Amino acid sequence: MREVYLDYNATTPVDPEVVKAMLPYLEEYFHNPSSLYSGSSKVRADLETSRKKVAELINADPEEIVFTSGGSEADNLAIKGVAFQLSGKHIITSSIEHHAVLHACKFLEKLGYEITYLPVDRHGVVDPDDLKKAIREDTILVSIMLANNEIGTIEPVKELSKVAHEHGVLFHTDAVQAVGKIPVDVKDLDVDLLSMSAHKFYGPKGVGALYIRKGVKLSPLIHGGSQERNRRAGTENVAGIVGMGKAAEIAQKDMYEEERKVKPLRDRLQSELIARIPEIIVNGHPENRLYNTLNICVKYIEGESMLALLDSYGISASSGSACTSSSLEPSHVLLAIGIPHEIAHGSLRFSLGRYNSSRDVETVLEVLPVVVEKLRKLSPYWS
Ligand SMILES: *Cc1c(COP(=O)(O)O)cnc(C)c1O
Repeated sequence: MREVYLDYNATTPVDPEVVKAMLPYLEEYFHNPSSLYSGSSKVRADLETSRKKVAELINADPEEIVFTSGGSEADNLAIKGVAFQLSGKHIITSSIEHHAVLHACKFLEKLGYEITYLPVDRHGVVDPDDLKKAIREDTILVSIMLANNEIGTIEPVKELSKVAHEHGVLFHTDAVQAVGKIPVDVKDLDVDLLSMSAHKFYGPKGVGALYIRKGVKLSPLIHGGSQERNRRAGTENVAGIVGMGKAAEIAQKDMYEEERKVKPLRDRLQSELIARIPEIIVNGHPENRLYNTLNICVKYIEGESMLALLDSYGISASSGSACTSSSLEPSHVLLAIGIPHEIAHGSLRFSLGRYNSSRDVETVLEVLPVVVEKLRKLSPYWS
């Protein structure tokens, strides 16, 4: 059976060009970039070329990029790194962040930090006025994501960072879902810290980066050697970093063309599902939303049952975030935008990308109405 992959926000396939760029670093260029022979200088130079490519994608300087093991580590380094460096005890975030941010904050609460979780409106947007009111004398960091992984809503990060800076507070944004999809410019956004992850934009898993604005000091989380200018110890994941650099280069070149291709597919999926299935809700901001993401709630049935049936037709989608789909609690993001528990349980997320075609969309349009009808017939709530 042909797989129809519609879960690009969970992870993307690795671009064949990226695989090709990585392979030599698993074979002949295996040297430790910190060693002193010529094989190492070659690897070191190529690592720095990748750093430059990643920096260019977000308009940063290469020295401002620290490679990590992925988006989760970048988020943890930003939040705990600031908390352990500065003396204040108050951090502000939002109620719809990825668990890498939320659970890092929960951990800090156990250490005596106080966290404010800002609410969002029904589209998932944080209000800069709410941020202004939440800032205290001892606030050290604001962390608000650039684009939400579940519903795709794009946050007003430029306005939010302005509020933080007016009060002398550092600003971090989890841009894992935005980088590679939409233009991200750290200077325009005026952020101090920004997280990204290679496997969300056609790079390999297990590699990411944190942008740290020049002059911002963080406590490292991994202690050891002096790699990454003493901000993250450990021999670099060279092949992964080279892959991330290649993926960044491709994203920078193809981003707009990809939007032109993917957005109409997502828009057709959305409008036709609304037309073909009664009583569904589209979640997320109507305009300020990632062009690849469609999150819906299908009333009276469970997201998990729909996923299982879709899978039997070869369709891979998600019922929220990859991290919540193994638990029985509905998504914290859907609850935060005011969706009632019983409706939030019926959520489905389709996230499209580089390798989707209109044939994929047509398959879902044929299959999902049948699946929904079948399940609703069995539902005690449907009449
Ligand atoms: C995927 C994701 C992460 C985690 O990135 P990993 O590289 O998988 O650790 C963090 N934040 C957001 C918004 C994500 O979508």
